[in-house]
Amino acid sequence: MQRVEPQDFSRVLSSMCTRPHPRAREAAERFLATNPGDPGTYEAVSELETEAVEMLGTITGLPNPEGYIASGGTEANIQAVRIARNRADTDRPNMVAPESAHFSFNKAADLLNVELRTAPTDADHRADMEAMAELVDDDTVVVIGVAGSTEYGRVDPIPAIADLARDNDALCHVDAAWGGFVLPFTEKRWHFGHADVDTITIDPHKMGQAAVPAGGLLTHSQALLDELAVDTPYLESKSQATLTGTRSGAGVASAVAAMEELWPMGYRRQYYESMENAEWLAEQLAARGHDVVEPELPIVAADMTMPVTEDLRRRGWRISKTGADEMRVVCMPHVTKSMLRSFVADLDWF
Ligand code: PLP
Repeated sequence: MQRVEPQDFSRVLSSMCTRPHPRAREAAERFLATNPGDPGTYEAVSELETEAVEMLGTITGLPNPEGYIASGGTEANIQAVRIARNRADTDRPNMVAPESAHFSFNKAADLLNVELRTAPTDADHRADMEAMAELVDDDTVVVIGVAGSTEYGRVDPIPAIADLARDNDALCHVDAAWGGFVLPFTEKRWHFGHADVDTITIDPHKMGQAAVPAGGLLTHSQALLDELAVDTPYLESKSQATLTGTRSGAGVASAVAAMEELWPMGYRRQYYESMENAEWLAEQLAARGHDVVEPELPIVAADMTMPVTEDLRRRGWRISKTGADEMRVVCMPHVTKSMLRSFVADLDWF
């Protein structure tokens, strides 16, 4: 095979993944040939997975966490909906989410035959609780909140979402796939131990700086995880809760390596740097007359009136747009101030 550079991150402003931490990269390489899907045989990586889940529990504030390292947020979200569906006693299950929920819930709906009901968000792009409550009924199996939304980095009112779920005998799922590793450092110091949250998605391969594939599904009880279990007659272990069978030990090992290296001080420092970059960019764009959605977490969205995306792409920039056609920049760990300075200089050029 011709030698192709895998990815140059120096102009990537669109991705929710990043260059893995060197320790995470090294661990991923070492564990490439392991399969945590067969824990009886691959014991070392299986022990690391237990450690990974423990650490994710610490980061989210969930005591006694159960769960596993998934291929990513999509799998974790699908599995969370599957837990809720399997536990409920209805032939016509539905899930209620804000319209800001990630498109992986559309996949979950389709695969699992669970109707997806989405409520409009409020003026600040957070779940509108009145609109959410209107959609909940006796067949609602899970109410979903997003903690770090894909487009605007917004955190929904999770305690209110948990109350709504509890009052209707549904589960509460929090999608912190992207936000999970920054939430503890925000002014609100988000953690989910005290709220009635049942399942959480938190992805080490996003802000956690682990190698892809490393998503995380957490729950507070083994009984909920057991809703996913199927018998595994030909393996050394007896049952499996994961969606995939064979899966990469690279994700598991790199997640542990990244978290051991960075939790908590490294992630804290990263959050402050990313947030400062996001605020700087927001100011620069506002000063140029653009309507900017104030960053709450390190994502900046701005209503760019010019059709910039293609021109910027030609200059090597990778940027994305929101559903409302705003330019969206994700200030991931590889995004530095000097990168943003040259981005703004290029914007000025048009
Ligand atoms: N949830 C949120 C909030 C996301 O932002 C994303 C991806 O960006 C996902 C879920 C899906 O994660 P993945 O692409 O790792 O499957």
